[in-house]
Amino acid sequence: MAGKYELLCLENPLLDIQGVGDEKLLEKYGLKANDAILADPEKHMGLYEDLIQNYNAVLIAGGAAQNTARGAAYILDPESVVYLGCIGKDKYGETLEKISSDAGVKTEYLYDENTPTGRCGVVITGHNRSLCTDLAAANNYKVDHLKSERIWKQVENAQFFYVGGFHLTVCVPAIKALAEEAAAKNKTFILNLSAPFISQFFKDPLDEVLPYVDILIGNETEAAAFAESHNIASKDVKEIAKEIAKLPKKNSKKSRTVVFTQGTDPTIAVSAKEGSSDVDVKEVPVHAIGAEKINDTNGAGDAFAGGFVAGIVQGKPLEKAIDMGQWLAKLSIQELGPSYPNPKQTY
Ligand code: ADP
Ligand code: MG
Ligand code: MG
Repeated sequence: MAGKYELLCLENPLLDIQGVGDEKLLEKYGLKANDAILADPEKHMGLYEDLIQNYNAVLIAGGAAQNTARGAAYILDPESVVYLGCIGKDKYGETLEKISSDAGVKTEYLYDENTPTGRCGVVITGHNRSLCTDLAAANNYKVDHLKSERIWKQVENAQFFYVGGFHLTVCVPAIKALAEEAAAKNKTFILNLSAPFISQFFKDPLDEVLPYVDILIGNETEAAAFAESHNIASKDVKEIAKEIAKLPKKNSKKSRTVVFTQGTDPTIAVSAKEGSSDVDVKEVPVHAIGAEKINDTNGAGDAFAGGFVAGIVQGKPLEKAIDMGQWLAKLSIQELGPSYPNPKQTY
């Protein structure tokens, strides 16, 4: 049975500005159909208004790990999940706070009085989603907040840490503090690779944190980007997962598990101890759903992580936890954006 606030999540709280776009819109801003990037101040700042004015965009709660936190809370007992990040003192921040608390997530935000809450432009084309994030206040999370007495008590209390890889561009000291706490006390540290650009352009902080990672989550394009930046020759997701699982690890009491989703293709999970040739490989099929039932795939991976992490917190076997992730992802892609059905369904 999960104790109080056993799962602590950290990342970038964002409001999603989501619209159904087209090739022309992607081209105008130089976006790939299926990607996640940080906004370039020179190139992308017009996207948000454009989405609202010309593409009927809606404002919904986003921020990858915040979506995951809400997903885990959807399944876990009440008072299981706490989420940390930085927002502005504005109505968007208030909206995020309310949506999280309604979803059963306790938020412990740092407030930045001088910067607006971050936003993520979401361009939907078919089953693809392109994310373009203006971090704003989310970029100003500070390790002092994490280390403050009230927050650190909650860190000490938690047994599972979930960090979105997007935070590697924001506050590596905070991620490292959680990672070290996990390794020192044999807790579970989970990292999501979040986007190809993290492996490509934030390789150094990623490599600094990787030895602490007990469970690494990503999708197929993130697996490929990791392989490319780490001189892993294989293009095969399973082989890439094997290589990552065997990389150096601080806490040798736990093996490392690498979980790669691949849209509608089966999810791959590989567990291994550092340097060991004894690897455990699993393949778990996706819950098939008719194309007409899909609303949008924004947040599919976040929902997967939410269901999966809930399973891990509940002590479920790996395959069961993955199936819980698939289940929640299936529910989420039938909703608008990264959300979960109400009334609540049970796994
Ligand atoms: P991301 O959102 O990070 O790109 P994926 O696209 O791999 O992540 O999706 C994560 C999970 O969401 C998949 O493993 C699957 O369970 C579910 N999913 C995604 N797209 C679909 C789809 N079209 N039909 C059914 N399930 C899907
Ligand atoms: Mg995908
Ligand atoms: Mg994802």
